[in-house]
Amino acid sequence: MVFDCDDYERVERKGHKNTGLSQKQIDEIKKVIEERNIKNLYSNKKRMFNSKEYDKYYNTPLWESTSRKNLLQIHPDEREDAKAFMNEAFIKYGIKLVIRDVHRSIKEQNKLYSYGRKPNSDIIIDRKKIRTKAPGGASMHHYGLAFDVYELKNGDIVHFDRNIIIPLAIKYGFKWGGHFKSFYDPPHFERTYGFKWKRLKSKAKNEKGKFVDLRKK
Ligand SMILES: [Zn+2]
Repeated sequence: MVFDCDDYERVERKGHKNTGLSQKQIDEIKKVIEERNIKNLYSNKKRMFNSKEYDKYYNTPLWESTSRKNLLQIHPDEREDAKAFMNEAFIKYGIKLVIRDVHRSIKEQNKLYSYGRKPNSDIIIDRKKIRTKAPGGASMHHYGLAFDVYELKNGDIVHFDRNIIIPLAIKYGFKWGGHFKSFYDPPHFERTYGFKWKRLKSKAKNEKGKFVDLRKK
């Protein structure tokens, strides 16, 4: 049984109440969340543990230089999970993922948003040219909370095998762009940490740090 991101969020937030899931499904989800949290603990305590398992998950030599650079553009609260997700894809399935397109400015996003739409409006004039569902400020890419992923295969950048990668990403708490209702965006993964984009936009403006503080509402 494959759960979607919202199932995990509901169980994480509400425990077992009003999730619309059976007890067996809830138990399954809880087990995955627990595993994920153990891995996070590992990354926080890496000096203390200094174990082989840490090396296996976090220091595999699969990272090409662009992905390494792009990883640093991912919000620090999300970064270790992004890394562990990609490492697991390689260790378990031999799929070498690469990260492309993390941070994007509001200006760049507005340009993307304009493709296929009537100038300075939301009105779609050519559906085939649409590149995003998010106008400037609304994309999780501005806040380092979204990243686009492809597979590196025989030197080429290709789309990954969804049957393998999507359940894995969901296990790590990422929402997949292929599940968006308004726009199908298969390379895209994100987390919102319960924030609406308008709030993130004003936080980014007020806080002036490189990344917004997700612990403050
Ligand atoms: Zn994206």
